[in-house]
Amino acid sequence: MSKKKYFIQTFGCQMNEHDSEKISYILEGASYEATDVQEEADFILLNTCLVRENAENKVFGQLGALKALKNKNPELVIAVSGCMMQTGSARETIREKYKHVDIIFGTKNIDDLPYILHEYFQNGETVLAIEDELDLMKNETPVIRKDKHKAYISISYGCDNYCTYCVVPYARGKEISREPERIIEEAKMLAEEGYEEITLLGQNVNSYGKTLDYPISFASLLKELNAIEGYSRIRFMSSHPKDLSNELIEAMGDLDKICEHFHLPVQSGSNDILKKMNRKYTREHYLEMVRKLREKVPNIALTTDIIVGFPGETEEDFDQTLDLVRQVRYDSAFTFLYSPREGTSAAKMENQVPKEVMQDRFKRLVDCMYDIYLEKNQEKIGETVEVLVDSLSKNDPNRISGRTRTNHLVHFPGDESMIGTLQMVKINTVTSFTLEGVRVDS
Ligand code: SF4
Repeated sequence: MSKKKYFIQTFGCQMNEHDSEKISYILEGASYEATDVQEEADFILLNTCLVRENAENKVFGQLGALKALKNKNPELVIAVSGCMMQTGSARETIREKYKHVDIIFGTKNIDDLPYILHEYFQNGETVLAIEDELDLMKNETPVIRKDKHKAYISISYGCDNYCTYCVVPYARGKEISREPERIIEEAKMLAEEGYEEITLLGQNVNSYGKTLDYPISFASLLKELNAIEGYSRIRFMSSHPKDLSNELIEAMGDLDKICEHFHLPVQSGSNDILKKMNRKYTREHYLEMVRKLREKVPNIALTTDIIVGFPGETEEDFDQTLDLVRQVRYDSAFTFLYSPREGTSAAKMENQVPKEVMQDRFKRLVDCMYDIYLEKNQEKIGETVEVLVDSLSKNDPNRISGRTRTNHLVHFPGDESMIGTLQMVKINTVTSFTLEGVRVDS
């Protein structure tokens, strides 16, 4: 008998991608196999994100489109999970307007999926499974990893910071760190299986370990992971500037496997706006962290997140952001137009910035940043860099793509057999976003 097929569409961040890897493991344990073709699937899951309105609207659009598939195949099971499902209003909308959805479960119920499926198949009625508290013991489900050469490891869940624009603390709950022994065990297993790169995930990895019975620092965890033989690269994200310690900066310079890349979300260059965002650092503190990072790791690449048009942002505030961007000279950034999220205190703030003003500032910001990226990338022409090959290029099957230790995207001639290997590449052409080159012998 042929196996039933599942299809997962993941929205949002790496945490969600990693959750989808866990869900894959559970579904394969329940005798499903993956398919890339949605129309072939017997089980379709949307793993949702609610950080931005845009992502939420896409989920509703997608659910609307799935109705036709369900009409054609009433046996099809449609499920929705992820951060959006942690909010009552999204769940109600789905239950009222998208009655063809069969299963709704939250970020803390992933491990219950076998029972949820059982309940659904027993009763044939919509199942709703939402918990508020994460049970760490239950959350140790293995994963089916998307790649064979790089892997995510969760080191903490949730967030206690309550930035005024952000829904994550409401959706993912309080910050909890995983025991270091479990993380080290998982890393050793990945090393034995031949993985080349691990990425440690948490909403705020810099505060890792503070909630443990025997607290340890993130830098100490990195030291333990650096000592494991096998893989050659360690990355992590995300980091909060207020918790970036001198010990971590030292570790960045001292530990050979930690990649020379730091994603340090600044969000705004204005102290007034940072205060309204409840970010708990100043631009001066941030710039000092950047100075120390560059002193310790001179070739470090810095990337960031910036929100344009936070409530009350004036032209002067925005100039402060532009000024900070010019001082730091980021290698790349995620830039966003502020979007009010229900339940956050920023959504209720006065002086919401008009859309046209936001868009104009956004354009000026990205123009400034793209010029900087290009200038910085031009400095790399002639350099030879180590690339971990990820995939065939989307547009040309004779070219491959991968990432440097500094997380720059590189394209160069090659073939499928090189996926997952480390290659030395001499850079000869660049754009604002990519490096191009040719393979050289190491
Ligand atoms: S640190 Fe702030 S932005 Fe990041 S997840 Fe926590 S509340 Fe959201």
